[in-house]
Amino acid sequence: MVRIIQIAVDLTEAYRSLYHVTVEFPVQPDSLATFTTPLWIQESHSANGPVAYVTGLHFSAGDRALPWRRNPREASQYLVQIPPGIDTISASFDSVLYYDVARHRVTLRWEHVLLYPAGRDIRALRIQPTITIPTSWGIATALENIGRSADEPYPSNGAYSVKYNPMSVERLDDSPVLAGRYLTKFDITPDGKHILALAPDRIEYNNASPEILSRLAKLVEQTGLVFGPRHYDRYWMLLCLTDIFPGNGREHHDSFDGSLVLAGLDTNNQAAMDENSTVISHEYVHSWCGKFRRPAGHTPPDFSTPLDGRLMWVYEGLTQYYGQVLAVRSGLMSREGFFADLASQAAWLEGQAGREWRSVEDTGTGCSLIARTRNAAWTSWIRTADFYMEGLLVWLDVDTLIRAKTGSARSLDDFARAFFGRKGPLVVPYTLEDIVLELDKVVSYDWQSFFQTRVVDVAPQVNVNGIRRAGYRFIYANEPGFAQDTESAKAAAIWNSIGVKVGEDGVLKDVRRGGPADAAKLAPIQTIIKVGGAEFSVKALTEEVAKTRESPIRLTVSQEDDTWEVELNYDGGLRYPRLVHQHADRKIDFISEILDEVKPS
Ligand SMILES: [Zn+2]
Repeated sequence: MVRIIQIAVDLTEAYRSLYHVTVEFPVQPDSLATFTTPLWIQESHSANGPVAYVTGLHFSAGDRALPWRRNPREASQYLVQIPPGIDTISASFDSVLYYDVARHRVTLRWEHVLLYPAGRDIRALRIQPTITIPTSWGIATALENIGRSADEPYPSNGAYSVKYNPMSVERLDDSPVLAGRYLTKFDITPDGKHILALAPDRIEYNNASPEILSRLAKLVEQTGLVFGPRHYDRYWMLLCLTDIFPGNGREHHDSFDGSLVLAGLDTNNQAAMDENSTVISHEYVHSWCGKFRRPAGHTPPDFSTPLDGRLMWVYEGLTQYYGQVLAVRSGLMSREGFFADLASQAAWLEGQAGREWRSVEDTGTGCSLIARTRNAAWTSWIRTADFYMEGLLVWLDVDTLIRAKTGSARSLDDFARAFFGRKGPLVVPYTLEDIVLELDKVVSYDWQSFFQTRVVDVAPQVNVNGIRRAGYRFIYANEPGFAQDTESAKAAAIWNSIGVKVGEDGVLKDVRRGGPADAAKLAPIQTIIKVGGAEFSVKALTEEVAKTRESPIRLTVSQEDDTWEVELNYDGGLRYPRLVHQHADRKIDFISEILDEVKPS
């Protein structure tokens, strides 16, 4: 008799978006059982569980099929009448989630395939997983297998299975599996406690150079110096290298899963490193900020309880801050890359007209809406996941304030060590009050009002306090600066100037609320046909905006059977954001100080 839920996932057809799943449940004979898929996913900050992708669902007891019905009040739940004398049943289904589909690798996020009894505490409910993958593939996960090495397969029919130790449903969901044809494992630290598992889409990227491994080891060291004790025995960096779906990451307690572009770990290509490597440092920081310590309201007993997003500017914002800072301290990101990114993010936030009506806190409280607005028009007016970068600016504000008040004797690192570095149980929740109390121990200040005005209240002006206090000015230049000679930087310069996102076909993907194009009544889905009388191209538009001019920018625009002329009253040129150090009047340079490697004491 099975007393622990057994879940078996066959990943041999994951390359076709078909995850074959079988689950065996212990059940109460002669009862009505309710099974559920996860609804609220902590790492995606929203109620975007996989139920819509569950297909081919059958329940059975031995050879006997058991009918099921969906809970009429909750679409992610299934009701099954258990016959008398039956204490174990099975469910089989496919999850057809069309997500990051690749030929030679798969990242299994368990929430995509989980089915478990509803109404049970997922922190206590026990489950045991088995994974099946092609024989030629390797597998990596923080899960512990049952006494055999994961490299030692149980082969059958060109595939093999690995069985793992039983654990709680919560723990399983927090332990993704990376498998792939070219999967290779590298020790980052000599003690074997930090492992990089690399699964590239192409065999020629199947290597981590000694240089990248030493920078990752530096990241481990520098992160430890900021946060103190680690809350894991072994940590797994589960990384895909891909051009299909790069730049994506998910945090977990003792692993992260993420993806970089194919060249994302090439230390000879610092531009690619600058753009990509913070996925690694960001997700790694989450082991402390987001997993060990979580906002109260982020430790639910099941995946049906809504998550409270009010402190997302800490959960994601502080992680964003340290993810960037530690990427530089460990050599993954260049200092120039850090400054360029900070400037471009500040510009993007300045263009978020939604800051006029929504607070930073509200972007977190409403974070479950983000997925629904991903392809929306007027994104700057909606204001979406701003808590990441607004949070970064708030924490830069805090860090520079502590440094300014203590003559750099203390910093945000002191707060981080005290707040995240304690030994303790697996999860320690916190409130804003806890943060205020801990900050007050570092520097006595009215932190409550500090966060009230910057985070809780609507704050129409972008928060550049930290940048200014650090000795810098945030400006726009007409010429591209460091790392701005790229198509995406040019597109951002158009957004920061006339306020449109436009494709090569002239179709407006978005218009910045409050910008010159909005004033001229342009709108998403309209098409720019001509620029100054000449045929539209992105290049022509970019050149037209860049010109010094005394007359308006003339565009010909169409929507359905209408075509008309518009004039944009704009003469500011392309606007490339930049941070300029005020050498002349101030010797202070807190940002450079913040980016300095921390020396072990
Ligand atoms: Zn994050």
